[in-house]
Amino acid sequence: MGETVIGVTAGAPPPGVMRLHEPIAACYLPASYINAIRQAGARPVILPPSHMARECDRALGELADPLWVLERVDGILLSGGPDPDPWWFGEEPRPGQGRIDPERDAWEIVLARAALEAGMPVLGICRGVQVMAVAAGGALYQDISEGFPAALKHMQEAPRWFPSHGVEVAQGTKLASVIGAGACRVNSFHHQAIRDPGQGFVVSARAPDGVIEAIESRNQPFALGVQWHPEAMCKRDSRARALFASLVEAARGWRGRGRYA
Ligand code: MN
Repeated sequence: MGETVIGVTAGAPPPGVMRLHEPIAACYLPASYINAIRQAGARPVILPPSHMARECDRALGELADPLWVLERVDGILLSGGPDPDPWWFGEEPRPGQGRIDPERDAWEIVLARAALEAGMPVLGICRGVQVMAVAAGGALYQDISEGFPAALKHMQEAPRWFPSHGVEVAQGTKLASVIGAGACRVNSFHHQAIRDPGQGFVVSARAPDGVIEAIESRNQPFALGVQWHPEAMCKRDSRARALFASLVEAARGWRGRGRYA
């Protein structure tokens, strides 16, 4: 049996990360994702957007070839990043909408749809869970304040590894089988939230203010996402490690089940 390969999506770096004399186009992925996949026993490969640093209209996503990727990886991790463009869920941008990466949106949404259709194991993290929902026909609050005027602080200023707010994991869900049902604490670096988890998806965890913190597919063996950042918690949190282990285990089971034409 060969290595289990997890494709990890990436995109343009956030402003201020690359302090160069001249700004250059770049592809960016925090090393914490790579370390978390390796620690779980798989080989990570970075999946850049297919049309980086070119003029991109949304239709270009249709030209991307997700099947090329699906033939070569055993599972996909949709990583964190900027806000998905609300165009993808049929809305105009409102003032609460943040930075967007159009090339990454087009690529990830087309890739996520293909992976979900194929039943390939997918884990979504932060932006990744939002992309998963949008790919499944769901929708987001462009800013948490739109849906939850009395929301908790979801953009923590505590260290990245620190679990700053509670979530309640729903009984009987896939997520509960991985990290346990009931109360748990997570870190939080998001200002958007899922409004509609999409077709075939159910909510598997919520924060005490009602904000959706995790979703999962009812139909796929392993398609789940969390709004927090387990890759930043792995050193101290066994539940964070369990999430990556569950993706790798699902991907290992998927391998050999057949590839795509
Ligand atoms: Mn949160």
